[in-house]
Order: sequence, then C-alpha cells, then structure tokens
Amino acid sequence: MGRVCSEIQEWVEEQVERPVETFVNELREFCEEQDCNWWCLCCNKWFCWLAWVVVRVVTWVIVTVGKWVTRIVCEVVNFVLDVIGFVIELILSIPIIGGIIRTILNWITEIIWRIIGLIDFLASLAGIRLRKKMYFGVVVPPITPIASDADIQRQVDATINFYDRTCNINMIFTGICHTNISPPGGTFTVGCDAGGFFSDWWLDGSYFEFASATCKFRDSFRRVIGLGSEIIIFIVQDVTPANTNGCSFSSTHNWVVIEAQPTDQAFVAAHEIGHACWLTHSGDPSNLMAGITPATNPTLTNVQIAVVRWSKHCVYI
Ligand SMILES: [Zn+2]
Repeated sequence: MGRVCSEIQEWVEEQVERPVETFVNELREFCEEQDCNWWCLCCNKWFCWLAWVVVRVVTWVIVTVGKWVTRIVCEVVNFVLDVIGFVIELILSIPIIGGIIRTILNWITEIIWRIIGLIDFLASLAGIRLRKKMYFGVVVPPITPIASDADIQRQVDATINFYDRTCNINMIFTGICHTNISPPGGTFTVGCDAGGFFSDWWLDGSYFEFASATCKFRDSFRRVIGLGSEIIIFIVQDVTPANTNGCSFSSTHNWVVIEAQPTDQAFVAAHEIGHACWLTHSGDPSNLMAGITPATNPTLTNVQIAVVRWSKHCVYI
C-alpha cells in the first residue's frame, strides 16, 4: 500500500506546496513594487519584507515538515499492514486448506466491493465514466523458454492503451519481477479447465500465492482486502487446452497466466485481465473477449466496460 503514501505526497505537492509557493512569490513581487515611504524611513517596505520572511519560513516549516511526517507515518502504517498481508498470504499459500480459504476470501471481497460499487456501476452503464485506475504487474518464474522483457512490454503497452481508450482506466504498471523461486517440478503448464481450477488449490496455487507475496510485497494488504488489489500476470510455459494462450479464473485469485511466447497476439494480457474483472467470452470476433483474441483494435461493449470498471481491482484512489 506504499503507493498510497507516494500518491498523497504528490497530491500535497500539487495542491498545497505549489499554490503556497506561488503565494510567497506574489508577496515578494508585491514587496518589491512598494514605493518607499520617506517619512517613516521606508518602514512600509521593511514591514512588507518582514511579513514575507515570516510567511516563507512558517509555510516552509508547515508544508515540508507536514508532508514528510505524513509520508513517514503513512509508510510505517502501510509497512505494518503489508507485513500482516504477507503473513496472511503465507497462510493462503498452504496447499488445499490455504487454497480453499483463498478462493472463498477472494470471491467474498469481490462481491462486497461490487455491492458497495453498485451506484458507480450504474453510472458507468449510463456513460458517466470518471477516471479510475487499476494496478497490474508481471512475475516471471525461472523457466525456459521464457518471453523476453520486450515481448512482455508489448503486452503491457497494449493493455495500458486499450483500457485507457475504452474504459477511461489508468492502468498503472508495477513492473516485471523475475523471481528466483522455481515452480513445482521446474516446468509450468497450467490447465484452463476444471482440472486447472482444482490444481490451483494444490501446488500451482501455492506457488502463485507465495511468489505474489514475495515478488509484490508492497501490495500484500491490498490483495487481502481486495480493494484496488493489483492483478499479477504470471508468465508460464504452456496453457492447456491447445490454442489457449492465457487463463484466468475470474475472482478466484489476484493473478492471471499467459504463455511464455505470445508472438502474434498483443492483447492476451488485456483479455485475461478482462476475465479477472468478470468478463466472459464474446461471440463477436472483434471483441477483446472473443475466444480468439483479436490481433488489432479490439472492442468492448457498453455493458462490458461497466463490468470491468465495477471490479474490485478498479478504484478511484
Ligand atoms: Zn478467455
């Protein structure tokens, strides 16, 4: 949650520090322009400069010290919350029992935040779509062959541009994490079917949860409470059945998977994020959620846009 602290600091700099600085500069110009009152030995100018010095010192102390105290307190609170989140995620990475709790927890948080966001959903349906944001990052396990960072970046850029263009969502990319933790068995094939769903309660799911907790520690608490939780894209060797390039089990977890070398399709990550936000497949071949993801300029319907914006991952702050 440390990202909230840096955002608060940016807001203070933008909305408080800069206007204060402008005011101090205007006061200085005012003092410079004052004519000297000879009958009191320029006392008006001296008072003006004295006032300027006092204002400058007081505002600097209040704004700068206030800003950093807020930041430090915020970071400490966030760190403690993320440690709590990390410990919970370790529990959730226990095979079977952790997996079952994880599935239930993620669906419950999704449903709660969707109930709370119902009015926003209706507003989105009606076309009122204020800027929202969604965090996403990539985790690359130590497997071969693996997609290059350039390949991954192509998916990332396509995802950012697509959701910005269609949904007025600012997709904030948290980076590519190359983890040293090997997947179970050293290879990684993920089944995107009922078998895959249940193996997610076993070692695969444990791996995803543990690698998320260690690679994306900074978001641990958010992932536990769900609100604004980052979607993590894992790169895997193969997704089955054949001709499947990626997989998501909707709200079941905070991650999606895509294959190591998605050579011709830039929108697989965007498609899987759509699933993570409750979108199902579309019969329209030009739709992002078509069974075969379109290679260029995919679309979303009005209802699909509202459903994505309604997701727990998609927030205002
Ligand atoms: Zn799909």
